[in-house]
Amino acid sequence: MTFMKIVIIGNSAASTAAIETIRAEDKDSSIVQISEERHPLYSRCLLSYYLADKIDKNGLAYRSADFHKKMDVQLHPGRCVEEVDPAGQKVTCSDGSAHSFDRLLIATGSSAKIPDNIPETLRGVFVLRTVADAEAIKQKLSGAKKAVVLGGGLVGMRAADALCRAGLKVFVVIGSNRILSRMIDYEAARIVGTRVRDNDIEVMTGSDVSEVLHKDGNVVGVVTDNGLMLDCEILIVAKSVRANTGLIRNTDIKTRRGIETNASMQTNYENIYAAGDVAETFDITTEEYTVNALWTCAVQQGRIAGQNIARRDAAGIPAKYAGSVAMNSLNFWGIPIISFGVTVPEDESRYTILKDSRPEQNVYKKIVIADNRIKGLILVGRIANAGVLFSLVQNKMDVAPFMDQLLGDRFNFGHVVRHGGKPVLEKYYRGLST
Ligand SMILES: Cc1cc2nc3c(=O)[nH]c(=O)nc-3n(C[C@H](O)[C@H](O)[C@H](O)COP(=O)(O)OP(=O)(O)OC[C@H]3O[C@@H](n4cnc5c(N)ncnc54)[C@H](O)[C@@H]3O)c2cc1C
Repeated sequence: MTFMKIVIIGNSAASTAAIETIRAEDKDSSIVQISEERHPLYSRCLLSYYLADKIDKNGLAYRSADFHKKMDVQLHPGRCVEEVDPAGQKVTCSDGSAHSFDRLLIATGSSAKIPDNIPETLRGVFVLRTVADAEAIKQKLSGAKKAVVLGGGLVGMRAADALCRAGLKVFVVIGSNRILSRMIDYEAARIVGTRVRDNDIEVMTGSDVSEVLHKDGNVVGVVTDNGLMLDCEILIVAKSVRANTGLIRNTDIKTRRGIETNASMQTNYENIYAAGDVAETFDITTEEYTVNALWTCAVQQGRIAGQNIARRDAAGIPAKYAGSVAMNSLNFWGIPIISFGVTVPEDESRYTILKDSRPEQNVYKKIVIADNRIKGLILVGRIANAGVLFSLVQNKMDVAPFMDQLLGDRFNFGHVVRHGGKPVLEKYYRGLST
């Protein structure tokens, strides 16, 4: 076994998973990790809970403070990698320092996109992406009475929830015709939307912010494209994210929406890997290459990259990533929601769609099927069998023999096993135990 110099850029979900996987196989190689952020390892998924004071700053951590020491990783926080030189096998940071590598993992994640018409230097304009963002919003909360959130996705709605709990009047401005439009369809959004409005959050669909009003450098309101004026001291922009690919702009590493990767999480350079929000991967439900900017995807991709980075001899069989799935879960004021894969197909005639809609009980289930395989689903209110259904997606199992049972609250692995699905069950439990 030969000693390798491994460089990892980023200090979050994908890189942490990669480090743990590398060290499980390789205790000797050097690992240098470079991260623009100074804050110790934390979960972005918990930021809105921190904003809402449901947890304190320590509650954001998901590994112990001595993680990097235990993993024998030389971490350089507060350094930004500006250039990657694939042929010269080195990276250069903003402070002029350079690090050579035998294998490189790019796990630089993504950043919130701010539309051109929103002056981000105004006091009161925020995104919610980092601990620093959450702290800046928290500081502005005292004295603020009204907030506008631009974007009704997972991050936008969680931010709206947190601001509402902090006692602010919150308006959510959304371009599409419903909240959580990438996760759920119109019927599901109506159930959740009622609960949102019951909590005094106002949602404006089919709208955009056309102008930000300000006084002495502070936000005082916004004007929407349909002429509404909304007073606010806080504007949170949560429309979409963009993969952090700036560091490879001068290279021939291939990118589309993110860095192109193969099933081994390699880029077009075999010793350079990418994982997480920065990586474009094959989506097993849409069967297209895309960026699924989600924590679970980042962790799985980081693990695959880590296994392949650690495997040093030619005889080693590369670990293969089965592909990503857009999977989201959240709980809005007691309504649990899970969705994954294709939830609103463009051409419904190509799919079989099963539905159970009980709005009076806040229950809605939708399963989207093509060629007898589940391509996506929405569960609102009753989510107990989401794990079973997700296994069927991952394993591309033929659901024809028990299609009429799929929507039932009691659908379980028993139905799957009775129709030759024992390997699916075994894989599920192996997955849970790793
Ligand atoms: C508020 C919020 C809530 C979320 N909730 C959920 C959820 O409920 N479920 C879910 O699945 N996902 C959720 N996500 C998405 C999830 O957090 C991301 O998918 C995940 O963090 C991606 O991990 P990553 O390792 O790819 O990159 P990131 O977490 O984006 O981390 C990137 C790292 O790279 C560093 N970096 C970037 N550029 C450079 C550079 N040039 N040089 C050096 N370092 C660099 C950054 O400092 C950071 O350390 C949420 C995100 C946010 C912001």
